[in-house]
This record gives sequence, structure tokens and C-alpha cells, in this order.
Amino acid sequence: MVVGGGFIGGEVAASAAEHGLDVTIVEAGTHLLPGVLTSGLARPLERLHQAMGVRVLCGTPAARVLGADTAEAVELADGTRLPADAVLVGLGGAPETSWLRHSGLNLSDGIVVDEYLRTSAEDVYAIGDTARWRDGRTGALVRLQHWESALRQGAYVARSLLGADKPYHDVPYIWTDQHGARLQIAGSADGDEVYFAYGGPEDDAYLALVRRGPHLAGVIALGGGREFNRLRRTLAALPAWESVVAGVPGS
Ligand SMILES: Cc1cc2nc3c(=O)[nH]c(=O)nc-3n(C[C@H](O)[C@H](O)[C@H](O)COP(=O)(O)OP(=O)(O)OC[C@H]3O[C@@H](n4cnc5c(N)ncnc54)[C@H](O)[C@@H]3O)c2cc1C
Repeated sequence: MVVGGGFIGGEVAASAAEHGLDVTIVEAGTHLLPGVLTSGLARPLERLHQAMGVRVLCGTPAARVLGADTAEAVELADGTRLPADAVLVGLGGAPETSWLRHSGLNLSDGIVVDEYLRTSAEDVYAIGDTARWRDGRTGALVRLQHWESALRQGAYVARSLLGADKPYHDVPYIWTDQHGARLQIAGSADGDEVYFAYGGPEDDAYLALVRRGPHLAGVIALGGGREFNRLRRTLAALPAWESVVAGVPGS
């Protein structure tokens, strides 16, 4: 039994099913990866899990694990009891900044830093999962929990300490492999409009473009990748939506 249909829950469920285990994913949201994808974008992933024998239960949170010495069942918030021999809980993480509460640093869902990753204290920077930085291009506060981001931020601060003074820019990128299919997300999957260059919610593969305001804000690919890689490279320049959509093969 896997509680939480995020990246970790989905990957563990896929691996367990591949090893012949009987797997159920319990997800509180209405679809898998609810904090990341819209239901239409997540639908093919859910179908893929089901096709590979994983039971997907969305919309009712798990309330507790039952059992004395070992797990015996998971009880959902509506009282349903699902028998389970083993339970993996992957519900995400929250930044632990309580030890900094008397430091005077600006803390709000992490350590708030400016577009140079500087905290509110002189000569103190913050990077990685707990850093929440002001993206100079969009004005939004962003906090990412991805390896690649943590690596880029470390390298960026090292250059800053050596005298570089360009603001930090990042185009987030994450991928997940589940049941042999790769889902890739570059930029933001949260926007005003989603356009499918090919495929869609009822297909096994798609390339989706996300618009925010007049710009391309994100690209998501399930399966495939060449066009995704090309578009991913353009994201840093905040390309105009109309011209991107007009130039995508299949549009
Ligand atoms: C199970 C799991 C799977 C993941 N899979 C992926 C993935 O597939 N792809 C991806 O991009 N990201 C993944 N991530 C996220 C990725 O691991 C993080 O984004 C990345 O490690 C963040 O780097 P960091 O340096 O901020 O924090 P960490 O790597 O967590 O390092 C922080 C370090 O600081 C130490 N520490 C904490 N408090 C203190 C203190 N007060 N004093 C001294 N040391 C302290 C900790 O012990 C730890 O060693 C995964 C995370 C988890 C938990």
C-alpha cells in the first residue's frame, strides 16, 4: 500500500508492481501528482498504473495505519479499511526552519531570499530545498525541492562569492520514470492554459505547453522527448506564447 500519489509514491508503486506485488495507491487529491499536474495531465499516468495492475484510489485521504507490531490495514478518512502487509507513506516534506526562529532571517515557508539568493542578513545566503527565492522574471517567490536546483544554486552562490553579480535564474526541471514511461516537466505546469501539441488526456503520450499570461511558462512531456528538449531550452527567455504554439510540429 502506498499512501501519497506524488513522485515518490508513483515510483515506488511502479517498482513494487514490477516485482509482482499487489499495490494500491491512496491519494488525497482528485488525481495523481495533484500539486504538480492538472487532472488532464495526470490522467494518462493513472491509466498506465491501472494497466500495470496498480489500484489507484483518489479523493479520500488516509487517516491512519492499523496494526499492532506490523501494518495490517490503512483506514481512510471515510472509514474504509484496506488490508495491507506493508505501507509506504510519501506525503511530501515541509522546510524545517524552527531552529532559525530567533535568527532574524525572513522565514515564510522556508528561508526567503532575494533574486541573488541573499537572505535578509548580510553575507548569508540560502540554497536548496529550504530556500524560497524571488524570481526576477516573474516576480513570484519560488521554492523547489529538486536535486538539479540545489546543485545550480550552490554553483551560483560560489560564483557570487567570487564577485559575479547576475541575478539567479532557474528553469525547474524534473523527471520521473514509472512503468517504463518517462514524465518530464520543465518550467511551471501551473498556468492559464494548457495546449497539447500532440496527444492528450486520453492518450498514452503527450507534449503539453503551459501558458501564463502572454508567455510559455512550462512544457510537459509523457513519453517522447526531442521537441520537449528544444522547448525546454527556450523557457529561460520567456518566449511569446503565440509564436511558440505556431512553431510547434503538430499544431
Ligand atoms: C526520498 C526522496 C527522493 C527524492 N528523489 C528526487 C529525484 O528523483 N529527483 C530530484 O530532483 N530530487 C529528488 N529528491 C529531492 C532532493 O533530494 C533534494 O531536492 C535535494 O537533496 C536538496 O538538497 P539540499 O542540499 O537542500 O538538502 P539535503 O540534500 O537534504 O541536505 C541537507 C543536509 O543538511 C543537514 N542538516 C539539516 N539540518 C542541519 C543543521 N541544523 N546543521 C547541519 N546540518 C544540517 C541534513 O542532515 C542534510 O545532510 C528526493 C528527496 C527524497 C527525500
